[in-house]
Formats: sequence, structure tokens, C-alpha cells
Amino acid sequence: MPKNDLVLLAFDDSQVLPLFERALAAASYSVAIAQDRKALDQALQESTPALLIIAEKLGGGDGLAISAELLERFPTLPILLFLHADSPQTVKKALHIGMSDVLAPPLKIGSIEQAVANSIRRANRIGDWTRREVRRTTASLQQRLDDMQKLDIVINHIEDGVIILDEKTHILLINPAARREFGLWKEDELGGKPALELIPHPDLRTLLTTGANNSLPHSEITFDDGRVLSAQYTPIPGIGAAITLQDITHLKQIDRLKTEFVHTVSHDLRSPLTAILGYVELLGRIGPLTDQQKEFVHRVTASVQNITALVNDLLELGRIEAGFDSQKETIPLEGIISYTIENMRPQISERKQQLRLELPEQIPSLRGNPIRLRQMLDNLIGNAIKYTPEGGNLSVEVEVQDGQVILRVADSGVGIPPADQPHIFDKFYRASNVPKGVGGSGLGLAIVKSIVDNHHGRIWVESVIGEGTTFIVVLPTYRPEDTRPTK
Ligand code: ADP
Repeated sequence: MPKNDLVLLAFDDSQVLPLFERALAAASYSVAIAQDRKALDQALQESTPALLIIAEKLGGGDGLAISAELLERFPTLPILLFLHADSPQTVKKALHIGMSDVLAPPLKIGSIEQAVANSIRRANRIGDWTRREVRRTTASLQQRLDDMQKLDIVINHIEDGVIILDEKTHILLINPAARREFGLWKEDELGGKPALELIPHPDLRTLLTTGANNSLPHSEITFDDGRVLSAQYTPIPGIGAAITLQDITHLKQIDRLKTEFVHTVSHDLRSPLTAILGYVELLGRIGPLTDQQKEFVHRVTASVQNITALVNDLLELGRIEAGFDSQKETIPLEGIISYTIENMRPQISERKQQLRLELPEQIPSLRGNPIRLRQMLDNLIGNAIKYTPEGGNLSVEVEVQDGQVILRVADSGVGIPPADQPHIFDKFYRASNVPKGVGGSGLGLAIVKSIVDNHHGRIWVESVIGEGTTFIVVLPTYRPEDTRPTK
């Protein structure tokens, strides 16, 4: 039996009031009475009744209308409607607006008690369920909040820089490591601002523009003081993008030392190699050679030629990386492509491969070094021929878009395993699936990458093992205003 639950009686009818009071007292309820609308509002403000019993008419007001209003304000308050005479239509309306029950004559103490108990029990059940649900949702929200706090702590403590951007490249989050790198110290100046306004670094601008086009997930950000950051752009659907930054200054320094060392060694190797080749060639002239001697001479020559090619590649790479090609001229790309392809025709037909060439009617000129661009094409098309079985397909396509030339060199060859793809532009790297007998030094793509970098372009690969490979190069076209001196 409920103990002292408060039942509020909103009645102005003194005839039935004593009966209700008696019935409720017998069942140990506390009772409060409101005889008009004002008193009712006040009672609801000052107490929390377990049930409201309202008469059909209250101080000239309509009990149903008042109940509808109260249920808007107190949706969990059970309200019982007391009717002077049974009316199925009013009952229907009462239940429709969400009242818990209706009481009509003949009234008996037992029936009042039962209706009150039922309404309060039902309301308690709903209340319990709501409280449980609220507890459950709050717990799961708290868990999420805890997870987010943990994530926040992790992001704030890691040594790598992290910048999270929204879809308009405004900063949502920038961790202390990233702030340090860009010399941003005050926390309050960062949130919600456009990233490029806060960090007007040209390399970041390039990363954001190209990242948004999904064409360059990774690039480098260099500073005047010699620091170099490796920047990874990752689009995040529904949020924007994340940029992670890693300081690779020391790796760059090691790389430079290694390059200098390799350059010196290659240089020193060139003269003895030329001498060996010269003397080996002389052997045949100083007297007749046996077949076996001829075979040995042939092998020595082939090996020396291989080493010479490698040394030449290394020296080339050293020169390109050192930026010795700063002299740039206006280049009609179309001419370079046709020239390169014509030179490679014999190789292509020897391997019975089909080459498809797709050029737009007009390709805007580029600014750069024609010899290097030819070398780039030579290496890409040469690889396509080399890594595609006899009878396969090759294609060279050019597309012009937004002031950029997009060159695609594709083949239907062996493909490159996903695990190798991030490394193929590294020096001496060869993929794990290079077919037996296919020679190479692993320097060709490193040369290509350096040439593309020197021309302010980008290069990446798309490849499926066993289906083929496409190298995509994007180069900026030449705009005469680019060469005007800046103020
Ligand atoms: P290599 O002298 O070995 O050809 P590159 O630097 O030109 O060196 O290329 C690096 C590696 O990338 C190659 O060894 C090969 O594994 C892979 N590769 C380059 N181009 C292709 C291609 N078109 N198809 C398949 N693999 C390729």
C-alpha cells in the first residue's frame, strides 16, 4: 500500500469532495485540494503530487482543456478525470490527450481507491523506466566523454603534430606539437580560424589544395631554418581532414650526406670503368680470341656497361637533387612526348605491345628543362614496357585541367604490390614482384620523382597486381605572369 503519496484534488464541487477525501485517507494518501485554476497552478508549483484528480469543470474552466495544458508542462504527471455523468465521448477525449483514467458515478470508495492506485502504479512504472533509460544513456555518454578525454590526452601528448580541419579548412583542433612547429603559442587564437590564415605557409597551402582534390595524400613542409616536416593529409568523411606532421629534418640531413657520399664515389668510379671498357674492347684487336675468350669479353663488357649505367644514373640523380637544372625554358610537351615515343617504338614492337596515345588538341606549354622531362618520360614509358609481358597494352594520356597538365602512363603489366607502392620512389628500391631476369637499379623512379619535384609537380602510382600500373604526373602549365619579378 502506498504510504503518504500526495494526491491533488482539483475540485470546486463540495458534494463529492468528502467522498474522495475519505477514500484517499482510508488508503493512506495525503490529500491537497485546489478549488480553482490559480490554486491548482500554485499547488503544482509548490509540491509534486503522485496524482492529480481533476473534475470536469473547475472554477468555470474546462477540466479536459486544463489537463491538456498541464500534460504539456508535466508529461509524467498522471491525471484522473472525474465526470459527473458517464460520457463515452469525453472518456475517449480524455484518454486521447493522455490522461491516465476516468472516474464517473456511481462512485464507491473501493472504485476510487482502485483507480487511484492503478494510475499511480502505472505512472511509477513509466517513471522507473524513464529513470533507468536516463541512467543508461548518461552512463554511455559518460563513457564516450571519458574516451574523448583520453583521446584528447593522447593527441596532446604525442610528439607528432596533429591538425584537424573542418570541411572549410577551418581549424577544429591543433595539438601542442603542431603549434610548436608553426610557432603558435596562444591557445585562444586558434579555434575555428581558417588554417591558412593562421599558418600562411605555402607548402601547407599546396597540401590543402591538392589534398582536397584527393591527389596528394603526403608532402613535405620546409622552413627557412632548415626544418622539414613530413605532412600526411587524410580526408575524414563528415568532419573534414586530419593533417599529421612528423619532423624529418634529421632524416633529410642523413639523406643529404648519403647523396654527397654516393655522388663522390660514383664520380671516382667513372674513370676506372671507362678504362676497363676501353681495354676490354682492345682485347679483340690485338689478336684473334677463342670463342670462350669472346664469351668472357662479352660478359665483362655487359657487366661494366651495367655498372656504368648505374653510376651515370647516380650522378644524374645527384645533379637533379642538387638543383643544377635551375635554367628553365618554355617547353611544348607534345613534342617531347612524340619524340620519346618514336624513340621507343622499336622496343615496343619487339615486345609486340600495343601503345595507345591520347593527347588533347592543344597542350599548354610547360616551364622546365626539356632534357629532364624527356628523361622522366623515358623512365616511365621504359618501365611500362619492361614490366609488361609481351603482347600487353600501354597507354600515354594527357589531360589539361585547371592550369595543370595531367599525364598518365599506364600498362597492363605485372603491377606493384600495395606494400611496395609507398617505397618505389626511394633510391634502389625494387618491388618484391619484379619478374626474374628483368634488370634494373631501382634508381629510375627516384630520378623521375626528383625531376617532377623540380618542376613543382606531383607524381603518384595506382596499381593492381597482375592487372597493371598507372603513373600519374601533374605538372603546372606555364603562365607568363609567373616569371614576372615579384615586388
Ligand atoms: P628499376 O630500375 O628496378 O626499374 P625504378 O626506380 O624504375 O627501378 O622502379 C622501381 C621499382 O618500381 C621497380 O623495380 C619495379 O618493381 C616497380 N615498377 C616501376 N614501374 C613499374 C611498372 N610500370 N609496372 C610494375 N612495376 C613497376
